[in-house]
Amino acid sequence: LKVNSAQIQRESGFISGMVVVLHDVTEEQRINQERRQFVSNVSHELRTPLTSVKSYIDALQEGAIEDPELTNQFLEVVQSETGRMINMINDLLELSRMDRGVRNLELEWVNLGALFEYILNRFDMIIASKQAGQKDYRIIRKIDPTPVWVEVDPSKFTQVIDNIMNNAIKYSPDGGIILTRMELVDQKAVISIKDQGLGIPQKDVQHVFDRFFRVDKARSRAQGGTGLGLAIAKEIVESFGGRIWAESKEGQGSEFKIALPYSLEADLEDDWSDN
Ligand code: ADP
Repeated sequence: LKVNSAQIQRESGFISGMVVVLHDVTEEQRINQERRQFVSNVSHELRTPLTSVKSYIDALQEGAIEDPELTNQFLEVVQSETGRMINMINDLLELSRMDRGVRNLELEWVNLGALFEYILNRFDMIIASKQAGQKDYRIIRKIDPTPVWVEVDPSKFTQVIDNIMNNAIKYSPDGGIILTRMELVDQKAVISIKDQGLGIPQKDVQHVFDRFFRVDKARSRAQGGTGLGLAIAKEIVESFGGRIWAESKEGQGSEFKIALPYSLEADLEDDWSDN
């Protein structure tokens, strides 16, 4: 609590009263603390890949460049580390735009089940293509056949589902099953994506949407993660008036859920429907 006070003094010098202003600064302090933490996080996150890029370049300069095989190997590391930094900067810019309230949303009424199926088809295509090093997994779908309409930006919505699906694959063993559902619960359309992966410790579940939070930093980095994907997903879902959360028990997989307000009628806002 910050206290400002001033005496009310008459021309005669007589003090006739006092004004006291009480400021609740806990919120202010929390924001400042978060800002400092954020700057420190960004600096650390960028220092690690930059230091590693520098050490590989140093090694090349000190003679490794004579060995073509080593050179290739080192350049690959430099490439993947710079790629990860670019991804991180892009994520940070996206978050910063959203923080400033610049959302560039292109809202449309879309059939949620159909859009979800469309996104999942892309993942099935990836499995079918059986690329080298591609994890094997199976997607099971349980989608309520009732057509429901939600007002979202389809490309941003796709980005959210991609992120959750990619995490489900990333943090799951080879051969895992991913259960995807769309249900209508309490006037909300609820999308859920459940994996059989390593799960999230109870104490961490509510933090996975925090910027830069990872249960296992080393593991996430090694897989190209920035720790920002779910923070962005949360901002996007909330911009649609929805809610996103996770449920998990360590060692028993994780489930990510998104609840969105829906309508049973299409084209609610279209002008031609009034004509
Ligand atoms: P990252 O780029 O690290 O994957 P995210 O914001 O997408 O960043 O996720 C934050 C953290 O949440 C991850 O580092 C991981 O620890 C945890 N996490 C997310 N999805 C899952 C999942 N399906 N299973 C287990 N842990 C997960």
